[in-house]
Amino acid sequence: MLTRQEDLELRNAAMTWLEVRTQDGLNPIGYEDLLQDFYFRGERRALKDRQAGICKPAVLETALSITTTYRAEGKERPYDDAPGPDGLLRYKWHKTDPNHAHNRGLREAMARGLPLIWFWGIAPGLYKPIFPVYLVAEEPELHQFVVATDGLQNFESSGLGGEEAFREYAESKTKRRIHQPVFRGLVMQAYETRCAMCNLRHSALLDAAHIVPDRDERGIAAVRNGLALCKIHHAAYDAGILAVTPDLKIEVREDILDEVDGPILEHGLKRLHGEELRKVPKRRSDRPDRDLLAVHYEEFVRAPSAAAPRIDIGFPGLTAGDRTVPQ
Ligand SMILES: [Zn+2]
Repeated sequence: MLTRQEDLELRNAAMTWLEVRTQDGLNPIGYEDLLQDFYFRGERRALKDRQAGICKPAVLETALSITTTYRAEGKERPYDDAPGPDGLLRYKWHKTDPNHAHNRGLREAMARGLPLIWFWGIAPGLYKPIFPVYLVAEEPELHQFVVATDGLQNFESSGLGGEEAFREYAESKTKRRIHQPVFRGLVMQAYETRCAMCNLRHSALLDAAHIVPDRDERGIAAVRNGLALCKIHHAAYDAGILAVTPDLKIEVREDILDEVDGPILEHGLKRLHGEELRKVPKRRSDRPDRDLLAVHYEEFVRAPSAAAPRIDIGFPGLTAGDRTVPQ
């Protein structure tokens, strides 16, 4: 059994390792890597349980990570860890025995205020790690723990549950720290890390753009409301320089087509006019939704330069014009 100090060091080492392996969260990580590749003081340590969602290593009294399994397409919300009335997400016990070792491990991590890693499945065997997260309360009657992202762990969720301001803040924080990175992971996976318009394949230059802004602050956006776009095409899409028709053709704004300039304008923008998207997801249900495309496209046709109305989508400093998904 490791000491409490070693427990803390292992956690920190695991999170540092994940940062490096995922390029600060830009890329997902595979199941086998999580089982095989992390070493702490010369010993291999699995960061994920082989089967269970809760990972409580035998050498620790505490849980180290939790996992939300990927669930296939077609649903608005590929997870059921829905937020409670306080805006914080929940994580279910392992089965229903409160004294199961996994559940005790979570309880102990909560009692010690330890950071945990949350692995979100974005494809079978592929995860987006979110960390640190903290357990801040337990709801035994519902067989679940209350999870807070970094910065919210010191709030008493039960005491503040009814407070609108806290709920809004918690939801916006959750959206930024969990839903958006997971959305990015899902979109990148579906588009095989390629720009839908130009096929560029450099994750550092790619964004998960929303076709229309994700106004529902409780929900993760579905992949069918997403487009993997490089920075240029994302900004051009949001600025109404180009649009995508419901049948997946790119249209460039007329005045842009009349312009003469260097290679980015000529090749990067003008030449796309009339072309079909180069990259769409293999799975039909992940492909851009025609109705959602139509919403943006109609706006583009009506008022091209205003195709990206700046609508508040629920958290400070980020409006509908900013469709970038930050890490
Ligand atoms: Zn592009």
